Amino acid sequence: MHKIDIDLVEMTMDVMKYTIDRVSATKSKIGKPKKSEELKALVGETITSEGVGGEYAFKLWRKHLSKATVPIDHPRHLAFVPAAPTRAAIMFDLITSASSIHGAYWMEGAGGIFCENEAMSWIVSLTGLPKGAFGVFTSGGTAANLSAIVTAREFWREDDAFKGEKGLIITSIGAHSSIKAMAKVADVDILLVDTEDVLYGAALQECIDLLTAHQRKRLFAVVATGGTTNAGIIDDLDGIGAICEKENLWFHVDAAYGGGALVADSVRHLFNGIERADSITIDPHKWMFSPYDCGAVIYKNPELAKKAHSQEGSYLEIFKDEGAHGFNPTDYQIQLTRRVRGLPLWFSLATHGTDKYKEAVERGIELAQIAGKLIKDKPHVELVRDPSLSCVLYRRVGWKPDDYRHWTYENHRKGFALVTPTKWKTRDGFETVSRFCFINPDTTEKDIEAILDSMV
Ligand SMILES: *Cc1c(COP(=O)(O)O)cnc(C)c1O
Repeated sequence: MHKIDIDLVEMTMDVMKYTIDRVSATKSKIGKPKKSEELKALVGETITSEGVGGEYAFKLWRKHLSKATVPIDHPRHLAFVPAAPTRAAIMFDLITSASSIHGAYWMEGAGGIFCENEAMSWIVSLTGLPKGAFGVFTSGGTAANLSAIVTAREFWREDDAFKGEKGLIITSIGAHSSIKAMAKVADVDILLVDTEDVLYGAALQECIDLLTAHQRKRLFAVVATGGTTNAGIIDDLDGIGAICEKENLWFHVDAAYGGGALVADSVRHLFNGIERADSITIDPHKWMFSPYDCGAVIYKNPELAKKAHSQEGSYLEIFKDEGAHGFNPTDYQIQLTRRVRGLPLWFSLATHGTDKYKEAVERGIELAQIAGKLIKDKPHVELVRDPSLSCVLYRRVGWKPDDYRHWTYENHRKGFALVTPTKWKTRDGFETVSRFCFINPDTTEKDIEAILDSMV
């Protein structure tokens, strides 16, 4: 299994050829899932005591299994938050795998962690956080949010007055589901300000003023969103940051999706106040064109994260010795053994330069504006709200929720596009609408027009 023989050489060539074909393909279909039983019927038993052989297993992958996946980088995949990793980043992901680097401690991962830190320095510079701020790459926004919430809670609990208390966080209903999910993991309660639109400082202050004395005692953090996943809305970061300073609360900004837009001059002002944050989440696997999975958590004071996350253990002690000294990513988030998942981003940034990142993100914002104009011009569709960052919410006049659903499945079935419905909160409840989220700079005006025309 670990020997080098002719089968291994052939398999390696097959994998390289497949990879080259995949990253250089300019036209592809949007695949779709099949039921597990259908896939089983197609491929049969693959895990056997003798093995089915690499050539055969690879054939099954190519012929059946890869086709039951949706390529997230398809230019007409505009659902959820798509992704569009650069080819340079994808190729370096192969190198990351081939290099077997343990990315927890500098002692073992120095060269790789150095590269990650170069990329991280650039990300931190976009935030405007003061000197000393730094971060680490995580498996995604969920892990980044959890790492930040735990850091905030441990910092709060340093004060004996709060030792026995269950913590409380305030955010808005525009916040991503992972905030609520990770609050559960950290066993803290969460209060939602009832707005899916911009959360303003004044609304936050009102919410704080209405708390009971005990609730106020338990409140330790506020989570604002820097680009809501549903609509691209950026909360009033400056106003919220000021209140957090005044009320002595941890200020976390979840910019998992929107954080990439910090590089875009056209919208950077919308993030003013982010430099007041105690912690920030940004997902390079969303709008920084990195392959899965790559999130990031950044702290104004990384020492607080270290206090919360550094792991102790007799067999880990050597990593803390002089001589092994350097930056240990494990100390700043929930994971011990980790892939150096920031490495593909580093290579792509080094290859292309940061100006290209700026252009590619600006293109996503421009595509949202183009879609907005097309929607205004066509009588059968209308905007629900003006495009924000790269998100566009729009309705097909006269459609009911089922019409959106059928249209989504029909486009997906044809392998033409993946655009899914969402809900938008109005005064009378939730309206089902259609949504675009642009990430891929290869999406064209023609793609958008064709999708809108398929709604006539
Ligand atoms: C996507 C997203 C998350 C979750 O990130 P994962 O990488 O999917 O774990 C969290 N917050 C926001 C605002 C997001 O858009």
